[in-house]
Amino acid sequence: MINAMTDPVSRVPDPDFRKKLLEIREMMGSWKQSEYLQQTVQGFRTQKGIYKPGGSEYALWIRQTLKGIYPDVEEPPLPDGSWTYLYTPESKEGRADLSLDTNRALIRSMEDQIPVGVFIERNLPGEKTTYEVMGLAYIDRFDGTHFVLRGLPIDFQSPPMKDPSSSRFQPFENDPLPVTNATIEIRNKGFMTAVRRAYRGRCSLCELGYTFRGEPIGLEAAHIIPVSAHGTSKDVRNGILLCKNHHDLFDRFLWAFDEDYRVVVSDDREFRKSAEKNHVMKAEGRRLSNLPGVEYDLPASEAVRFRLERFHSASDRSDVT
Ligand SMILES: [Zn+2]
Repeated sequence: MINAMTDPVSRVPDPDFRKKLLEIREMMGSWKQSEYLQQTVQGFRTQKGIYKPGGSEYALWIRQTLKGIYPDVEEPPLPDGSWTYLYTPESKEGRADLSLDTNRALIRSMEDQIPVGVFIERNLPGEKTTYEVMGLAYIDRFDGTHFVLRGLPIDFQSPPMKDPSSSRFQPFENDPLPVTNATIEIRNKGFMTAVRRAYRGRCSLCELGYTFRGEPIGLEAAHIIPVSAHGTSKDVRNGILLCKNHHDLFDRFLWAFDEDYRVVVSDDREFRKSAEKNHVMKAEGRRLSNLPGVEYDLPASEAVRFRLERFHSASDRSDVT
């Protein structure tokens, strides 16, 4: 049972170990070449699998290579941005050897709810060995074959979500305590990463999506209830992945979408004329072409309704002026 109220990294007694975990969290969502990681991440040069620094009782990170047995299909993130990954530990004759030092360190991390860094090797055509930095994860359990890893949610002070279908959407930020800038920065990164994964790296409206060395270019996670209205950044259901162009137009309330995810476009005549050849006009009245593959990550109706209201009052204003 994972039970967190504070930053789980702060539970680590050793300040040096804590710093290293924070460095991995900083890189969350990025794709890095192996050479870079060898220079910046302790143990990466020499260790595969699980890395436990000398003298530490906990594991610092796990690295899954393409040669390992790994799940072919990775589940999309849950609405809170948490994810599950099955890690196959080292084994003897096909059986996981839990007496190994490294496996024991993982069990220790599990017992004390200390997160570990997770790196997964990705195949990029024509590129050097590259890893996706998944971020930090709890060791949820050992199922007899795998360690079940649960990625920290966007709101890393909360435990990861269990059942997405029964979790209520909280449209607005309601932090009881003041939130530091560092926390906001990590949450923004978490929101971007989770929305990007949920929309498989393509604009929801026009399906544009470029990547270079694994990093998406020109895409942004837009808030449906804006940040200025205290819309949440902790839940994928208040997000939609858009290319920069369509994000700009969305922010200016020149288009929106309804509860059936059908595109509505501003009736401003100047805008409509200028956008004649744009995707946004072609998409009018149609369903957004790229939506999350799982129902639980779809934009929440509450957020969509809030947005539509803003959209309609914005077009009313432009009629007057
Ligand atoms: Zn677009």
